[in-house]
Order: sequence, then structure tokens, then C-alpha cells
Amino acid sequence: MKRSSFIQHSLLGLAGVASCSKSVEHNDNQSNALIEPIYRWKCITTWPPNFPVLGEGANLLAKWLKELSGGRIALKVFGGGELVPALSVFDEVMNGTVEMGVGVPYYWTGKHPAIPFFATIPFGMNAQQMNAWLYCGGGLELWKEVYAKFGIIPFPAGNTGVQMGGWFNKEILSVEDLKGLKMRIPGFGGKVLAKLGGTPVLSSGSEIYTNLETGVIDATEWIGPYHDYKMGFHKIAKYYYSPGWHEPGPNLEVMMNATTFNALPADIKAIVETACYRLNLWTLSEFEAKNMDYLNKILTESKAELKQFPKEVLNRLREATDETMEELVSDNALAKKVHDSYRSFQQKMSGWSELTEKLYHNDIS
Ligand code: CA
Repeated sequence: MKRSSFIQHSLLGLAGVASCSKSVEHNDNQSNALIEPIYRWKCITTWPPNFPVLGEGANLLAKWLKELSGGRIALKVFGGGELVPALSVFDEVMNGTVEMGVGVPYYWTGKHPAIPFFATIPFGMNAQQMNAWLYCGGGLELWKEVYAKFGIIPFPAGNTGVQMGGWFNKEILSVEDLKGLKMRIPGFGGKVLAKLGGTPVLSSGSEIYTNLETGVIDATEWIGPYHDYKMGFHKIAKYYYSPGWHEPGPNLEVMMNATTFNALPADIKAIVETACYRLNLWTLSEFEAKNMDYLNKILTESKAELKQFPKEVLNRLREATDETMEELVSDNALAKKVHDSYRSFQQKMSGWSELTEKLYHNDIS
């Protein structure tokens, strides 16, 4: 759909909501029941249409909102690029041209330096710890405070779990091997790699395979076995590295235009919030269930070798992360506040997981 046509449709959509935004007394002879308004919302996503897990999750959100509201919420989901470019989702929700958007907060790092903490940072918290921070450790309140500057209300809405370290055609035996390494690794992880002499390369999803095959890049990260298998990287890369130090558990988001959300009745607000909780749980569960099956497929169908980054390399990446983070937050008081909350929560959780998760996985499971 062309942009002008999209804006027209959006306006029609908004007008449609406005015209029925009040409950109307139903005065026919059969009943005096209230006619409930129907909220017709557009939801734009940063993923291609029906993208495995992430796009499917947005489709499920539409289904659940309809079911939970008894048909009062009609959500129409659009893949990235269908209505607007994928990376304009934040702006469209902010401007109110659409009511809802789905993405990953770190895409909007350019808007505010605090934002990556609400997605993931290298050597940061895993999915379980992120949920604990967001829902019960003050993280979501801070996230709302940051997004309020843009007229957006955020909801945690999924997590990929710990990602893989990526596909390499060069073995990484020491920090020296990172020097001159051309790797497709966006965002914060790319900055950290650059500190150790690597060259982060930006490639869109559709270019990565050819760039890796032709040697334009030596390595790429993507997500985890399920999505990586579909990209076919195992056919052209020698080594599959773990862990994804750069993305230990990115939290995904549903964003709502604040003016739209604040005008809703309490039950519709609660339905939106509840459906996002459900999407959060479903997304992580779906990733966990699919990834190991697809890792096995990769290892049986290709010659790719599974490798782990040496401890020394991870330690140096961690030091470079700390330096990069200081630079990110030092000039902004709110970013510093978010950083401090995140870091102190992570430290607390780390002590607890040493005693529980770590011992359990190392010695029992
Ligand atoms: Ca990734």
C-alpha cells in the first residue's frame, strides 16, 4: 500500500474508532443491552510477514486479543515493509498513525541511550532474569518512563533466549583472531567487537548469506538454530559458535500509542496487558522448543562444527563491553539511572543463579 493511501486508511481507521468509542444505548425492542465499541487497530511489526516465531507471535496476539475481548479488539497485523519500512515502527506508533507496533527495543537506541537495556546488552541478563527485572524489579517502570518521552507505552512481549554466537569461516582461538574479523553483528555487540579490532559490517537479512558465501564477511550472527537453519548458513560456514555473548536474551516489545491506550476502558487495557504477558511466555517457549531440534538438523545435515569461544576471548569482550557501556550512559542521567538499576539487579540475580540454576545445570541435569 502506498504511504498516502496508508495514511488515508489510518485516518479512516481512527475515525472509525472515534465514531464508536462510546458505548451506545441499544434501544431496539429486543433488549437494552449496551453496544460495545469495536477497537480496530493496526499493528505494524519489524519482522517480515509471518516470520517464524516473531511474526507468528504478532498474529497470535491478534487472535488472543479478539478472543479475550469477545471480539471488541480487531487487530490487523502488518509485516515490516507492508505499510511502512520495518524500522519506522517506533515513529509511526509515536505519531499515532498506527495504534500498535511490535519490535525489539534496541532498534531505537538512536532515540535514547537508555533503550538497549530494555532489550539486551552484551553479557547482560538472560530471559528469566530480564522478566524478573522488568515485572518485579522496577525495570518496566523505568522503561515506561523512557518511552513516555515519545508518547509510547511499552509491554514486554517475548524473548529469544540466549542466542548463538554466530557462524564463522575463521576459527577463533584467541583475541588476536578478532583483529580484522569482518562480521555482520549490529548494535552494541558490533561496537564491542570494533574495540577489539574487528570490523562490524551492516548487512540486511537478505544480503547476509551471499556476503558470507563470497567472503565479503568472515562471520555473521543471526538468532539461534531454528532461524539460522532457515537462512542456510550451515551450508556455507565452517564453525557454529556459542554462546551469544552479545545477545543473552533480548526482550521483545509491544508498543502502544499512549493517547490511544490511555483513552481505553480499564478492561480493554487489562486485556492488552494480559495478552502481552501471554505472548512473552509463548515466544520464549516456542524458541526453546524449536532450537534444539534444529541444532540437531544442522549437525546431521552439514559439516558445520560446533565451537565455543575461548574463556580468554569472552573475558576480553566483557571488558570491552564495560567500557562501551560507560561511554553509552555517561552523558545522560536517565540512561545512567536505568544502567544502575539493571546492573544492580543483574548482580543480585547472579548470586542467586550461582546457587541454583548454575549448580543445577552443572551437577544435576
Ligand atoms: Ca542476533
